[in-house]
Amino acid sequence: MTFRLLLAGLAVSLSLVGCATKPGNDASLKTGFAAEEPQRKPLKASDPVEMEPSKWMVADLETRQAIDTNGPHRLAGRTLEVASLRDIQLADKEVVLTFDDGPAPGKTERILATLDKFGVKATFMMVGEMAQAHPATAREVFAHGDTIGSHTFHHPDLDKMSFDMAMAEIMRGKNAVAKVIGTEVPFFRFPYLADSRRLRNAVAARDLIVMDVDIDSKDYFSSTPTAVATRTMNDLRKRGRGIILMHDIHQRTAAMLPSLLSRMEKEGYKVVTLKYKTTAPTPATNLVAQADTKMVR
Ligand SMILES: [Zn+2]
Repeated sequence: MTFRLLLAGLAVSLSLVGCATKPGNDASLKTGFAAEEPQRKPLKASDPVEMEPSKWMVADLETRQAIDTNGPHRLAGRTLEVASLRDIQLADKEVVLTFDDGPAPGKTERILATLDKFGVKATFMMVGEMAQAHPATAREVFAHGDTIGSHTFHHPDLDKMSFDMAMAEIMRGKNAVAKVIGTEVPFFRFPYLADSRRLRNAVAARDLIVMDVDIDSKDYFSSTPTAVATRTMNDLRKRGRGIILMHDIHQRTAAMLPSLLSRMEKEGYKVVTLKYKTTAPTPATNLVAQADTKMVR
């Protein structure tokens, strides 16, 4: 893949960024999750292309600066102990990195390697069936000291399910991820951010902490790594802080992460690590059965 091809791809993708989302369209937060890798279509000359990792490490096309992954780094921020959603209070210039829909062998490890190089931790919201399919990768994330959450078992749109079915999906996903990594996973994110007040209350009643999203990288759109990093940085500068949504199932996400973290570091941002603060012994009851029988008003 030539540099010129890459630049052509960049130009195409930049021209697409403005029309990829409609103003006020929350559906833009929907992700392109698929447990199976989508089949690759042959690339046309005008298609955006993904950069090879070796080239990506050379320079950031947007800033024209070399990406120094060797350090020393000053991106790591504080560790925030959280027992509930309201404990996630970020100061100005503080961010939480989150990666949904994995683990995905090959991509997740690349992301872990980049996080290690910058000395920061992230939160991985794993899909139950993905953790079951790729247990070694799931355990590797945990072994790296990153925070783990769940993201249902099949990644359905819970809006389209009954309350009981939705809760069963949530708890099945949580239990599957917990079983694979061998510990409780108290963080949870709604697929497509499709929540409801009733589901949020029910999830909180089961001691799950809902991870909301402040900044959507939109890394599920077919754009270049540079476009994803630039879009994310632009949103971050506007908000000044926040929880950033990314996905460890996409190569472009793994490819753009060195650039994104490098830009954050240059602009003085700090990556906050989330740690679950236990408030009570974890009940050893069958949570799926509870979800089916407990009424939440
Ligand atoms: Zn997702």
